[in-house]
Amino acid sequence: MVANSAALPSVQSDSPWFKDSAQLVASKANLENKTKAKNVILFVGDGMGISTLTAARIYQGQQINGNQGGEENFLSFELFNHTALVKTYNTNQQTPDSAGTMTAIATGVKSKAGVLSVSDTALRGNCLSSKGNELVTLVDLANAKGLSTGVVSTARITHATPAATYANSPERNWEADSNLTAEAVANECKDIAYQMVMRDQDNALSVALGGGRRAFLPNTVTDGENKTGRRKDGMDLTQAWVENYENAAYVWNKEAFDAIDVASTDHLLGLFNSSHMEYEADRADDVGGEPSLTEMTAKSIELLKKNDNGYLLIVESGRIDHAHHAGNAKRALMDAVELSNAVKAAYETTDPDETLILVTADHSHVFTIAGYPKRGNPILGLVHGVDGNLSTAIDGKPYTTLGYTNGPGAVVGTRDDLSSVDTQDRDFMQQALVPMGSETHAGEDISLHATGPGANLAQGVIEQNVIFHIINQAQSLGGTKY
Ligand SMILES: [Zn+2]
Repeated sequence: MVANSAALPSVQSDSPWFKDSAQLVASKANLENKTKAKNVILFVGDGMGISTLTAARIYQGQQINGNQGGEENFLSFELFNHTALVKTYNTNQQTPDSAGTMTAIATGVKSKAGVLSVSDTALRGNCLSSKGNELVTLVDLANAKGLSTGVVSTARITHATPAATYANSPERNWEADSNLTAEAVANECKDIAYQMVMRDQDNALSVALGGGRRAFLPNTVTDGENKTGRRKDGMDLTQAWVENYENAAYVWNKEAFDAIDVASTDHLLGLFNSSHMEYEADRADDVGGEPSLTEMTAKSIELLKKNDNGYLLIVESGRIDHAHHAGNAKRALMDAVELSNAVKAAYETTDPDETLILVTADHSHVFTIAGYPKRGNPILGLVHGVDGNLSTAIDGKPYTTLGYTNGPGAVVGTRDDLSSVDTQDRDFMQQALVPMGSETHAGEDISLHATGPGANLAQGVIEQNVIFHIINQAQSLGGTKY
C-alpha cells in the first residue's frame, strides 16, 4: 500500500514524535548558509566518542528528570544543524593518540602519534629530526591576522591536546625542561611550557587557562600538598608571563580568577592545579578552588571579544579521556555534561551570525552501552528489562548497561556479583573484558557538530585534518590560497 499524507492515521500524524520531527525538518530547510565567521570557538572533548555522547545525554536527562527517561534529551551541541563523522587515525596508528589527532585539527595535516604540530617526517622523541618540520598552527595563523587567541583545558595546559595548538615538539611528554632528553637539549628543543610563555608579543596567547602549574615552576618551589615544580632551569614561567606581555595577569585559584577585571587584562594565564584540574565530579572538593569549564569558557569569551578583528578560542574538556582510561564511566559522563554546559554558555553569549562554534573529539574509547535496559533505566545502573525484572547473564549474575572492552575493570576469573553493589557511585569501575592497567582509546569515527557561519562545511565523513580547513576557510586565516 502506498500512503499519501491524507491517508496517515491520527495515531501517526498527531504523534509528538511525528509533529516535532516534521517541524524540525521544515525549519532547517529554510536555513541560510553564511560562510564567513568573525570568531571561531572549537570545543574538543578528549576521548568523547559517540557512545559517550549517547550515555552523557541520557545521564544529563536523568539528572533533570530524577533518574527516569533521559533518552529523549539532547546535549546542547547535538541540536546544532550540521554534523560530520570524523576519521581519527594517525599516520602510524590505526587507533590514535591525542597528540597526533590534535596536530591534524590544529595544522591541517595528519602526523604520528605522540608528536605535537611537527610533520610525519619527524621521529617521535628525536629533536634533530623535528628541525625544519615544525608546522604552523591555527593559533599562529589567527594571531598573524590580528585576531586574539585563547586555549582552555581541564587537563594540564601542557598536555597533548592544548599543547598541539601552540607548541611544536616531537615528544608530547616534554612538558617541562626536566623532561627533555640530552639529545633534545643538545639540539636546542624547548619544552612545551617554555614555548607557551615565551611566544612573541604579536603571536602571544590572550588566554591560557587549565591545570599543570608544575611545568611552569622551579623545582625548588613547593606548590601545595608537597608537590614541587618541575623546572630545573630555575625559571618561574608564571612570572615570565606577567613580565613578557602587556596588561598580563596570572591567577591560580577561583577567587583570583573571579576577581580578574577583563577590561584591564589582555593576557590571562590561569593554572589551577599542579597537574590536571579536578574532575567535575570532584571539583567541589578542591582545596584551592577551581573554576568550572563553563566559567573558564565564559571569561575567555569576555576577554577575547574585546578585539574588534575577532578571535579563535580552543576549549578542551580534557578529562573525559582520563576517566575512561580508569574504567570509570560516571566521572567521564559528568565531564561530558559539563562540556555541554560550556558549549551552551558560548552559544548564548555570542552572535550566531558572526561566531562559528564547532564541537568534536580527538578519538573514541572502548566504551559500550549494552543489553536491553528498559527506557528510563538508570544509565549507570544494572540492566532491567522492559518487564522491570533484573536481567542476568549466563552466569546468573546481573550486569551494567555501561562497560568497557578492556581496562582495569576487567573480569579475571569469576565475574563479581553486582547485585548489592552501588553501580551509580562515582568510584564504581565498570566491568570489562580484556584486563589492562589503563582502558584504551578506540579506532572508530567520532563526530563533529557545527553551528554559525561556515557550519555547513561540516558534513559527510571527513578526515580529521579537514577541521583545520573548515576553520581556515570560515575565518579566512590565509593558511591556504583557496
Ligand atoms: Zn587518552
